[in-house]
Amino acid sequence: MENDAEISMIKKFAENAAPESYKNLLNCFSGLGYRNATFHDFCAAQTDLLLRHDVDVSLEFALQIADIECDSGYKSTFFILMSSEFYNPASSAARAIIKKVIAMGHEIGLHFDASVYKKDLTILNAAAKQECNTLEDIIGAAIKVTAFHRPGTCYPEFLGMDMLFADRLHAYAPQFFSEKVYVSDGAGYWSHGHPLDHPAVENKTGLQLLTHPYLWVQVGTQSRTQKLDSFLGNRSAFLSREVSRNFKFYGAK
Ligand SMILES: [Zn+2]
Repeated sequence: MENDAEISMIKKFAENAAPESYKNLLNCFSGLGYRNATFHDFCAAQTDLLLRHDVDVSLEFALQIADIECDSGYKSTFFILMSSEFYNPASSAARAIIKKVIAMGHEIGLHFDASVYKKDLTILNAAAKQECNTLEDIIGAAIKVTAFHRPGTCYPEFLGMDMLFADRLHAYAPQFFSEKVYVSDGAGYWSHGHPLDHPAVENKTGLQLLTHPYLWVQVGTQSRTQKLDSFLGNRSAFLSREVSRNFKFYGAK
């Protein structure tokens, strides 16, 4: 249960999170002289902006954010789950979306849910490599970076872990993750204050900006709960249509 301060931050965030405000945020960073960096050339000592998205809910929402960034001249990295109950990256609809995202110049990374496996670093490394291989087969491109899904709750040791994971970069490595270089909307509000108020902006140093597409693209929703309700309504309608398409007798019931 959230306390009053959290509820107020969630409300304020949800009221302001919209496609237009995300676009405005990017424009503000451009105006401040920020350079659009990737996980492969990010330098925390420079005015580098590293855009990351964890696709926790929907690839359709991710595509909308990819479009906004493309229009604004930005490239980012979208981290995709292989073990989600909400979307299937191997489906034909997902493949088409991922292809569009890559064609815009964005990068795809693996969003890795360690809670699916036994809590053992050797096992997790092997599992992540396997997931990367599968995702590479699906998207037809190399996966060069990973990001843990909810490491704080299932494997806090990953936060700031100074080593490669699955033989690849990971988004919580020290060069990308510390109070000095990281800001996220993961709690449904800015966990370290608004990005433009972040000390990195005042110091003109690098920033990893993590946003979750489902919080930004659903216009007309007032809270993070309503955003998830809206997603569930759309997903349920989609699944209903798929059931009717696959089982003719169901459609005729
Ligand atoms: Zn996640």
